[in-house]
Amino acid sequence: MVGLPSQVDVAIIGAGGAGIGAARRLGEVRSVSVLVIEARNRVGGRVQTIAPTGFPLDRGAEWLHSADRNPLSPVARQLGFAIHRRRPEWATRLRPSGETIEAEADWIATREAQAWARRKAAAELVDQPLSSLLPPGGRWNELLDATSTWGNGAELDRVSVKDYVRYEDSGVNWRLREGYGRLFEALAEGLPVALETSVFCIDHSGQGIRLETSRGTVTAARVIVTVPTSILATEVLRFDPPLPDKLAAAAGLPLGVDDKLFISLTNSFPGIEADTFLVGSTTSRETMSYQVRPLDRPAIYCFFGGRWAAAFEREGEAATFSFAAGELARLFGNNIRRLIAPLASTAWLQDPWARGSYSYALPGHADDRATLAAPVDNRLFFAGEACSPNFFSTAHGAYMNGVTAAEAALASFAGLRMVGQE
Ligand SMILES: Cc1cc2nc3c(=O)[nH]c(=O)nc-3n(C[C@H](O)[C@H](O)[C@H](O)COP(=O)(O)OP(=O)(O)OC[C@H]3O[C@@H](n4cnc5c(N)ncnc54)[C@H](O)[C@@H]3O)c2cc1C
Repeated sequence: MVGLPSQVDVAIIGAGGAGIGAARRLGEVRSVSVLVIEARNRVGGRVQTIAPTGFPLDRGAEWLHSADRNPLSPVARQLGFAIHRRRPEWATRLRPSGETIEAEADWIATREAQAWARRKAAAELVDQPLSSLLPPGGRWNELLDATSTWGNGAELDRVSVKDYVRYEDSGVNWRLREGYGRLFEALAEGLPVALETSVFCIDHSGQGIRLETSRGTVTAARVIVTVPTSILATEVLRFDPPLPDKLAAAAGLPLGVDDKLFISLTNSFPGIEADTFLVGSTTSRETMSYQVRPLDRPAIYCFFGGRWAAAFEREGEAATFSFAAGELARLFGNNIRRLIAPLASTAWLQDPWARGSYSYALPGHADDRATLAAPVDNRLFFAGEACSPNFFSTAHGAYMNGVTAAEAALASFAGLRMVGQE
């Protein structure tokens, strides 16, 4: 375990995507001393790969979203990771889910109409929830809501239109065979990370910034805060003197809930092609999204979100598996029940250092991302997925944002001597 120095030039709080991005950028400047302080006993934060049965499973981030623009795509390639480029058939998954070709065409047309309505609504002065754009009694309203729980971690009535349209999506989504979490582990290799060290107070009243941690005090000239908004909004980590603007911005950008259930599938089950994408029901908002035999593995990955996912976290893995087995039996017939068993599941809302999955903006709070990201006194910097103006809620957005915060911290040193040289 990295020891805690009493003094450092830049302290980074959190070794998730943003913290790793920031530390790698600062590591390029030899004259600056850096320490990453991480509460968990591992790096990666909301990106983590596990392998309970031989093949890797990503508990958090799995997809290199906007992969053709994602700076981590070339990085992964250089590091020798195998990139799986087959695009997920998210738009056309209604037919394998039991709908007709005409119904699927209607669904695609409805989604396009929603995208157009969002752009129009976003140009208006007053922000609205995404739910205000639903056609009254619309055939696909429940499924649109379910889709929001997967994309935003929250139902449409919770999500700001203005924020939603700021997200940039090139539509290209790739996966890493070894797992996204393994990439972040590789990126964190050699970085000065103090694990199992939580920060509970940032005292910025004096000349040096004092970090009160579970393993003692560290003084830093600059601090980059990368913890999730849930940690700031609940003051698990607090500022002294308080920063009410940051607290309000973090509260305006809550973390939605998305979870995964991984199921093993006996290889002998016939008739299911590798990488089949499905939805459990096209008429209920309380349904799961499925990847069947992803990357040709003997497994089914189930994805679910929103208020309903929070309830499943409380009920536990057996209840979640029972629900998924019911949906899969409706899609594939009862025989499938004999061939599936739970492998692993997540409960990100209950995770004490995440307290949710990824951020969305409440209606009226789209500009909170800029408020959260703004430095304080040119010595307290903020990064993390929630601070990203266009790639929020993603791992690459967090990483890029960490790099940006590190550059701002370095620029703030221009013309000054480092703390250790004083
Ligand atoms: C189920 C799920 C699926 C996802 N799918 C995708 C996907 O396919 N593609 C994608 O791009 N993104 C995906 N994401 C989102 C992505 O994982 C996150 O947006 C991103 O990893 C967040 O990185 P971050 O650095 O901002 O925060 P984090 O990863 O949360 O890092 C912050 C770190 O700070 C630490 N910390 C918290 N409090 C303290 C404290 N007081 N003191 C010290 N340390 C502290 C935490 O332990 C954590 O390690 C998914 C997330 C989930 C949960």
